Amino acid sequence: MPDDTVFTADHVGKVYRTGEVEVVALRDVSLQIRRGEFIVLLGASGSGKSTLLNILGGLDVASSGSVHFGAQALTGAGEAALTRYRREHVGFVFQFYNLIPSLTVRENVALVTDIATDPMGVDEAIALVGLMPRADHFPAQLSGGEQQRVAIARAIVKKPEVLLCDEPTGALDYATGKLVLEVIARINAELGTTAVVITHNAAIAGMADRVVHLGDGTIQRIETNAHKISPAELRW
Ligand code: ADP
Ligand code: MG
Repeated sequence: MPDDTVFTADHVGKVYRTGEVEVVALRDVSLQIRRGEFIVLLGASGSGKSTLLNILGGLDVASSGSVHFGAQALTGAGEAALTRYRREHVGFVFQFYNLIPSLTVRENVALVTDIATDPMGVDEAIALVGLMPRADHFPAQLSGGEQQRVAIARAIVKKPEVLLCDEPTGALDYATGKLVLEVIARINAELGTTAVVITHNAAIAGMADRVVHLGDGTIQRIETNAHKISPAELRW
């Protein structure tokens, strides 16, 4: 395995069983992601995007096949090892921001640094998402896009190797969504954080190094962008 491979998914399958009902969420997914890559996951609702992201992030486990983070096997790892993996290496951003309403921006971000081994400065993370002027404000005083940028600051303050984003702009309008994507692109470019971003929106795919198209639980094709579009140039 090359040194710069962050993720190796090998023939990954995922089946959810609820009582007698079986849902095949992923079938035979194989994918390698290199350090510093910006990957966009595209696909219709129900195509398996979140399932794949959650398995990469150690929030869920594959039913078959194997997943490695570098040399570390995530498949077969116990719950304690997966918790440690998530804590040390993964930043998550979801559609909803999950900020603590009674804490300021700075306090929301600082919470995470208590359990991180080598965090960056809280203000450094807030500055990276362009929110220093709002550091002492509460979530309710911020727009949706600003709240999402706080969530991104919280995800990156522990300096994770990977940033996994599940529809980070799903609840945002065009302009604020674009700002959020710019922040993710800047973090990828400036910190070298490997980023995997799920979206419904094909128009943001131009930002990625590679676009992975999922359909019906399988990878249908992977596009490589020779020239990445800066998020500021995107239109949708
Ligand atoms: P996407 O994120 O692309 O919309 P998901 O990965 O969430 O797709 O879901 C893929 C399939 O797996 C869907 O059919 C979905 O209903 C099913 N699924 C996802 N999570 C669960 C779960 N916890 N239990 C049962 N079925 C699930
Ligand atoms: Mg999803």
